[in-house]
Amino acid sequence: MTARQRHSASPIWAAPDLALSTDVDAEPHWTDLALCAETDPELFFPEKGQSTLAAKRTCMACDVRAECLQYALENNERFGIWGGKSERQRRKLREELAAGQEVAA
Ligand code: SF4
Repeated sequence: MTARQRHSASPIWAAPDLALSTDVDAEPHWTDLALCAETDPELFFPEKGQSTLAAKRTCMACDVRAECLQYALENNERFGIWGGKSERQRRKLREELAAGQEVAA
């Protein structure tokens, strides 16, 4: 998967069902408040062996972290950092949720 393909799979960079609203009276969509939109998108799709720390730090300061993580879990997003969680962490969360376990965000 190329960097461009990974970016197009993210919430902030052009996922079709998350297009920004043009209704100026509407409540902002969570993607409108995504802190990662103000950063280098490459941070959120580190190559194997690269650190995820910078992306996760950004997520920890993001006001829509819960919404982002929920979206990623519901849509089975497989690549990148979403809601401060790596692919492996999200897989573990999905397994815990499927087993009916209480999970920490
Ligand atoms: S939680 Fe992280 S990936 Fe999700 S919108 Fe916020 S900064 Fe972006």
